Amino acid sequence: MARRTKVYEGKAKILYEGPEPGTLVQYFKDDATAHNAAKHAVIDGKGVLNNRLSEFFMSGLNAIGVPTHFIRRINMREQLIRAAELIPVEVVVRNVAAGSMCKRLGLEEGAALPRPIVEFYYKDDALGDPLVSEEHIIAFGWATQQDLDDMVALALRVNDFMTGVMLGVGIKLVDFKIEIGRVWEGDFQRLIVADEISPDSCRLWDMRTGRKLDKDVFRRDLGDLAEAYTEVARRLGVMPSNATYLGKPTLIN
Ligand code: UDP
Repeated sequence: MARRTKVYEGKAKILYEGPEPGTLVQYFKDDATAHNAAKHAVIDGKGVLNNRLSEFFMSGLNAIGVPTHFIRRINMREQLIRAAELIPVEVVVRNVAAGSMCKRLGLEEGAALPRPIVEFYYKDDALGDPLVSEEHIIAFGWATQQDLDDMVALALRVNDFMTGVMLGVGIKLVDFKIEIGRVWEGDFQRLIVADEISPDSCRLWDMRTGRKLDKDVFRRDLGDLAEAYTEVARRLGVMPSNATYLGKPTLIN
């Protein structure tokens, strides 16, 4: 049997060549990292949960006309995606102050923001993914002004969709990160949502109790990460309620 070709391996996912040109297989690992990979653990079942949750969010976005890379799920840990040329910028949308925004601007965690705020971070682990402005992005040729306008519009549509979906299950979408890629359709370039949308890349707070149901559970040692993600999946009807993906994390560093 021929061995498939690994195209890329990141902290939480592996990409393999897909069955047809222009496709890739995205494999979700159980690894969790935080603080620019200074903290690393393997959490049983996280990859399975994120595969399902990313499928759920991306197929919902596809259904309302927000293009994403998601084609179909292959198995528990893998999905077929469109190959896209990733723009080297993480796009963050914030509805409520949390995380790095609080540190940077001296805001209290949980403070309401006057409107959704879109930020850009240059993807460079060695630099710790610094905050950059549209000026930097255009000047260094990472994206054009037209791309940026499309990226902001896409990010705000994802925010509206995700906010509504999470509201329906009693969860507040505090902030999230997406990555955006280019695909070519004939002579036309199109921007699509790529990478993943999962509790690894969102902040999700229970609306009643304020309980954190996202990667901050791992970043701040607040409890069982797989249990928190299972709760999100259960509320969304993505996993059967008796799912036993809970496991003890194996701390690597
Ligand atoms: N985020 C992410 N990957 C990153 C950095 C941030 O998915 O490399 C997500 C993070 O989970 C949160 C949002 O983007 O939902 C904003 O993160 P923030 O800038 O507050 O950074 P953090 O406090 O996570 O370092």
